[in-house]
Amino acid sequence: MPQIVRVALDSNLPPLQWPACCPECGTTKMLEKMTTRLGHVKSVPPTLAGGLSVKNEVMYLTYFICPDHAAETRWANRLLEKSPVMYLLRFIFYVGAILALALLFGPRRLANFPELGALLVLPVLGLVGVPSLIWAHMATSLRPIYFDLERGWMIIRFRQAPYATKFRVMNLETTSSVNTEELPWFKRKLVWQLALMTVLSVAMIYYFESLVQF
Ligand SMILES: [Zn+2]
Repeated sequence: MPQIVRVALDSNLPPLQWPACCPECGTTKMLEKMTTRLGHVKSVPPTLAGGLSVKNEVMYLTYFICPDHAAETRWANRLLEKSPVMYLLRFIFYVGAILALALLFGPRRLANFPELGALLVLPVLGLVGVPSLIWAHMATSLRPIYFDLERGWMIIRFRQAPYATKFRVMNLETTSSVNTEELPWFKRKLVWQLALMTVLSVAMIYYFESLVQF
């Protein structure tokens, strides 16, 4: 069972400690360092240690992983990365998938395919992209799912519960609920992102439908 761990980012707290084992299989041999993008920071933060680093105003998280599991986690985390390019790509995937569903099951279906021309790239991207995003969510061993330096915390999802427990035990103070307060739902970015995406998707479908009619 995957575990969600909330971590306080505060230079007054002890630096993060990382278990010296693979987050997936637990091996302690041949470990390599993996770096995952956390997100953009507006100002260069106070000295935070423990696998946290800043390069060109982008913050990264570094942890150990074995070579066998490094590749899939690297690919999965890249697909799910919080960067403008990947946000755009994921948006294109979702819109493409909605168009693909409309074409496959909608009222006008495949008969309109030749008229669409270059627009056909979108549903194809959606059919490839959305399954790969689903794969990424399942395949990643360790992924930061939320990061906010101003509020001073991040959320990490661990695929393997024993590793998550090890991490919690090594970072009792930074993962304690006292140092990681919960946000009300309307202040969560994801809620608004989903709402915006739904509105845009519906608008796209109407636009697309009007194109097909002529
Ligand atoms: Zn491993």
